[in-house]
Amino acid sequence: MTTVRTRIAPSPTGDPHVGTAYIALFNLCFARQHGGQFILRIEDTDQVRSTRESEQQIYDALRWLGIEWDEGPDVGGPHGPYRQSERGAIYKKYSDELVAKGHAFPCFCSAERLDAVRAEQMASKETPRYDGHCMHIAPEEAQRRVAAGESHVVRMKVPSEGVCVVKDMLRGEVEIGWDRIDMQVLMKADGLPTYFLANVVDDHLMGITHVLRGEEWLPSAPKLLKLYEYFGWEAPVNCYMPLLRNPDKSKLSKRKNPTSITFYQRMGFLPQAMLNYLGRMGWSMPDEREKFTLDEMIANFDITRVSLGGPIFDLEKLSWLNGQWLRELPVERFAAEVQKWAFNPEYLMQIAPHVQGRVETFSQIAPLAAFFFSGGLNLDASLFEHKKLSPEQVRQAMQLVLWKLEALRQWSKDGITAVIQAVAESMGLKLRDLMPLMFPAITGQASSVSVLDAMEILGPDLTRFRLRQAIELLGGVSKKENKEWEKLLAAIA
Ligand code: GLU
Repeated sequence: MTTVRTRIAPSPTGDPHVGTAYIALFNLCFARQHGGQFILRIEDTDQVRSTRESEQQIYDALRWLGIEWDEGPDVGGPHGPYRQSERGAIYKKYSDELVAKGHAFPCFCSAERLDAVRAEQMASKETPRYDGHCMHIAPEEAQRRVAAGESHVVRMKVPSEGVCVVKDMLRGEVEIGWDRIDMQVLMKADGLPTYFLANVVDDHLMGITHVLRGEEWLPSAPKLLKLYEYFGWEAPVNCYMPLLRNPDKSKLSKRKNPTSITFYQRMGFLPQAMLNYLGRMGWSMPDEREKFTLDEMIANFDITRVSLGGPIFDLEKLSWLNGQWLRELPVERFAAEVQKWAFNPEYLMQIAPHVQGRVETFSQIAPLAAFFFSGGLNLDASLFEHKKLSPEQVRQAMQLVLWKLEALRQWSKDGITAVIQAVAESMGLKLRDLMPLMFPAITGQASSVSVLDAMEILGPDLTRFRLRQAIELLGGVSKKENKEWEKLLAAIA
């Protein structure tokens, strides 16, 4: 019997997402339950958006939760490299093979031509898709143009009619019409593969037997299955996991719910409780008990118990469960966890330089620095009254800062300062004009230790969370304002 091998394949393009941890958990349980292996692969073919910091954050966040992998970029293994950016030559070889077999073709169409085709299709109410223009170029002619260095992508051929039957562990057979499937680009003009080619080639070469992934990928399943068929490979068994949702049933998004695992870490959730809660997403123990450990989950795991109703990721429910975990810890362990969370030497050392000069006794530290050990704050709206700015401008300035901070790649005092400065300038103001808004939002007080340092120390998750809280307290952002301010945002340096 072949060994069960599962994987997660995150793209390191942002904060480590709770959805990644959720899918990782189920893949891990499935593999462990069958005595198999669980692999971590980094899908970083998007060179612009992928970063090494984000990759490291994924490792750290998963390990914090207690999720370990048997093979991966950082632990090695017999099927490496496990980072797609290091596998370029492999994809090229397989792309060439598809072209040689006539399953794919070089496409030389310019962006202008593709736009024009698209516009025409939209005008006649057709689904926009590639029109097959370059498919009809004679292979020798296409090869000659490729050899001459003409810019091109490689597209896969797909049937124009009929249906593709996707077998799914949870849904049985799902039929998807080929008329809904485009001639997908497999290799981009820069010579890098797209998700579709790289994913299929890697899952095959890495011996992946079962793929549990989010259901947002179900519509593209036919492309993957067709590629397995073209290569003559057996496709892994598929399982499309239900998407996590906000309490209002919309897809879990950071606009409505913090989605970064590091946020939950900073807020003081226990990793075991967090993992337990993710295990409750669409799944339950045979005896329906709410609190369980990873080992218990593995021992009782049964993928067919996953229910397809969209599981709701609810902060209140998570907090409740976390409370259960905290209360049941032996008190020594509780104290040790608190210490590990924020009363550790590293964190105190970050804060010390900012409080040392402001106190006469140690007993003054707690009131001054309480916000360093808090999650959300009890804010007082009157602290946001501004000499120069109207209430609307106050919200606008804070929302613009929030958006810019969400996009900030390198979290540092200088970077944060530059953001606030740029927003101030875009409103005809100075940096110091916006500081009276930052103090109460971040520290809960009208003045405190340096708020820019505080933001750096608190980190992106808590800083953004508090800004969002302050904006909500002041009335939030209407749809209309959202539109207008997004336009302003685009113009800020
Ligand atoms: N790189 C994809 C992602 O970021 C992987 C999806 C899959 O599991 O195939 O979600």
